[in-house]
Amino acid sequence: MIDLSLMKGTWVDPKRRRIRVQAGATWGDFNRATQMHGLATTGGAVSSTGVAGLTLGGGFGFLSGKCGYTIDALRSVEMITVGGEVVEASEDENAELFWGLRGGGGNFGIATSFEFDLQKIGPMVHGGMVAFPFQAAAEMLGFYRDLTADLPDELTMLAGLTHARDAAGTKLAAIVPCHCGAPDDGAAAMDQIRSFGTPAVDGLGPISYSAMNQLFDPGVPKLDLYYWKSCFLKELSAEAIGILEEQFACCPSRRTKIFVEHFHGAVLRRAPSEMAFPHRDEGYSILIITQWTDPADTDRNIAWARQTYDLLTPHSREGAYTNYMDDDETQARVRQAFGDNFPRLQKLKDQYDPANIFHRNQNIPPSAQKIR
Ligand SMILES: Cc1cc2nc3c(=O)[nH]c(=O)nc-3n(C[C@H](O)[C@H](O)[C@H](O)COP(=O)(O)OP(=O)(O)OC[C@H]3O[C@@H](n4cnc5c(N)ncnc54)[C@H](O)[C@@H]3O)c2cc1C
Repeated sequence: MIDLSLMKGTWVDPKRRRIRVQAGATWGDFNRATQMHGLATTGGAVSSTGVAGLTLGGGFGFLSGKCGYTIDALRSVEMITVGGEVVEASEDENAELFWGLRGGGGNFGIATSFEFDLQKIGPMVHGGMVAFPFQAAAEMLGFYRDLTADLPDELTMLAGLTHARDAAGTKLAAIVPCHCGAPDDGAAAMDQIRSFGTPAVDGLGPISYSAMNQLFDPGVPKLDLYYWKSCFLKELSAEAIGILEEQFACCPSRRTKIFVEHFHGAVLRRAPSEMAFPHRDEGYSILIITQWTDPADTDRNIAWARQTYDLLTPHSREGAYTNYMDDDETQARVRQAFGDNFPRLQKLKDQYDPANIFHRNQNIPPSAQKIR
């Protein structure tokens, strides 16, 4: 393992609206540096997530509607090749490598720093979480689907089935929006969301952008055990919603959650071939975060996650987000995740890592290697 966690440097140029950030920084570090200047771009929704891994895999977050994927704001990457050479990749220099680094993950070398464009966003936005009793889950997910049918770029929101951190682990259905536009528009958007019904918890309102990206932090402690599955949905149909509701009702752990993320706005305004990361369709992603603490519960939690995923498969569309994949995915599925961009990525792999030294990842094998 190559540990970059001490490389946390951040250099913000507020006039040019640019940041250079070292590869050991987290999104908490990134937001702290940029929000001092009221600047931001799409980053991870949990502050401990690394800038490097998330960016190299694509990057989805609360600003995706406005700023696109994290890679859409990426301007350059400094990388060390397998031979120890330091290279810069951008539109002007090693452009093919830059294309591959925007989605191709850690397959080509060790990224040491990243340069991003920033936009004027924050320090305050409108957002937070509103949660309703689980009995209303199906209806609320339908309401969420209808809301997401017509969203301004400034409003990105996800929905979730989750457990309260009370003694009973009460099941809840929640909507988590972030509106980064004009405050009046943000307040109106919050009112529209809470109009669904009587909430069990209403945490919607003005919130700092940094706090918005720490909301989930307490729910994903480092020492828990995790198993993730995810897929893109063709549509958030009544059948798919029914599966989510039924499966969550019998979920074996009070720490597990299921997120429904929505893609719209700026992420759709690029062609799938423009960068290695190809997913540019409007729609939804399901993220099953199975989470428990006792190793004795491992098998039944993983079995539940796989069953939920299998039940959703007839409703899902091809493709996958490599950043949400667990370690047991087949190479065929990794290949599917890159769609038509896969052969081009393999050529890049042949050039930068022909011996597949960097293979403990969502691997793009060199073309000479057979795919399982
Ligand atoms: C709690 C949590 C919340 C998340 N939230 C989001 C979210 O909001 N949006 C989203 O899009 N994704 C999210 N993810 C998924 C996340 O993008 C991936 O797990 C990503 O791989 C994390 O990168 P990391 O640097 O934190 O992790 P690491 O474990 O350090 O890295 C993961 C992999 O990325 C590659 N990599 C990392 N750094 C480098 C580098 N410097 N050079 C080359 N390769 C490198 C390597 O293959 C490495 O094995 C989340 C994950 C977690 C665990």
